[in-house]
Amino acid sequence: MSVIEGIGFHPLLSRRAGMVVYMKLHEYQAKELFGQAGLPVPRGQVCSDVTQAVLAADKFGWPVAIKAQVHAGGRGKGGGVRLAANREEARQAAEAILGMRLVTAQTGGRELVVHRILVEEGAAIQDELYLSILPDRATASLVIIASTEGGMNIEEVAEKNPEKIVRVRVNPLLGLQPCHQRQVAFGLGLTGALFKSFCSLLARLYATVIGNDLLLAEINPLVLTENGEFLLLDAKVEVDSSALFRHGELADLHDPAEMDPLEAEAQQYGLNYIRLGGNIGTMVNGAGLAMATMDLIKQAGGEPANFLDVGGGANAAMIENGFRIILSDGGVRAILINIFGGILRCDVLAEGVVAAARATGLSLPVVVRMEGTNVDKGRRILADSGLELVSAVDLRDAAEKIATIARSL
Ligand code: GDP
Ligand code: MN
Repeated sequence: MSVIEGIGFHPLLSRRAGMVVYMKLHEYQAKELFGQAGLPVPRGQVCSDVTQAVLAADKFGWPVAIKAQVHAGGRGKGGGVRLAANREEARQAAEAILGMRLVTAQTGGRELVVHRILVEEGAAIQDELYLSILPDRATASLVIIASTEGGMNIEEVAEKNPEKIVRVRVNPLLGLQPCHQRQVAFGLGLTGALFKSFCSLLARLYATVIGNDLLLAEINPLVLTENGEFLLLDAKVEVDSSALFRHGELADLHDPAEMDPLEAEAQQYGLNYIRLGGNIGTMVNGAGLAMATMDLIKQAGGEPANFLDVGGGANAAMIENGFRIILSDGGVRAILINIFGGILRCDVLAEGVVAAARATGLSLPVVVRMEGTNVDKGRRILADSGLELVSAVDLRDAAEKIATIARSL
């Protein structure tokens, strides 16, 4: 994740499973957005082949920075950012980065194939700062996070030298006031002309966050050049998906190639699926119940592999699709199904589970907790199916059973 881990909240669970779903922009798209807002960004061009990249580099003069465009940070450390001092180096860098499978601390163990690179005029860096703006749920405010220690080791700074991180909260109803700007600028130890230019930069960035419904604007590094100017050298942006209806131009920037392939498939089926990395697959109806289920699995000492809300109106086909997606995650060792039968009746669920188990040749242990409409009929279908399913009396029992099973594997 992009925001300094551990500073605010767990970015994955509290934001994604909290159903505040966001859309990430690529760096070049974010810089275009910021450039249009009058923020200082380097000149650059996005390229998808080597020849085009060399031509672009020629235009900017030397050195140029060549940067992988993927939806993850940590590219510098992973070999996805290179400086080139001449045409030959630019060619080599473009050849090395285009098509590479980039794994960084932020790709969650996945390899991201680089389809595009950003070729950018090089900056003469004097100082690397950190600046981000994002909502803080706990205080229902926007928080500005800044540090003089920007650059590739910001996570380490946050952990070992938290005093070097400045945080200023802004009530979104009152908006960014001059006192907030000064607080951040003082926190960064700025004086004189830099103090002033930083304050106006911050004001523009804040206005861009509000104007575009961004859930994250992270500039790392915000550099101070040798000419004494600020420059947004990197830019990470997440847009609130629920607000995309009023930002058609941002919605068009969606890049499905960057999505987790299973999440993309689930989206096609209309399923709300988020991969989490544990070994207990979960299938639940309703986002709130799904979150409670994951909490209980964690409390019982287990690790959920995914969040999957099949929705209140799910049918047997959707259950089967959900099953297929859970099973496509190679890390899943056991499955917990937790359904409260309301609109989705328990007998329909049971039929879906049985059909899916047969169709997929299921061999993993499955714990089922079912309550609600037609529950007896549902239980009978499961019992008569000949499948080895463990049934649970309630949610806590289900979580404990599945965690015990997962531990024993
Ligand atoms: P990230 O690793 O994915 O966050 O990628 P960044 O865009 O932040 O780049 C990583 C590092 O590369 C930055 O912290 C800079 O130190 C360096 N870098 C990027 N662009 C330039 C540039 O134009 N000139 C110089 N000298 N360094 C650069
Ligand atoms: Mn960066």
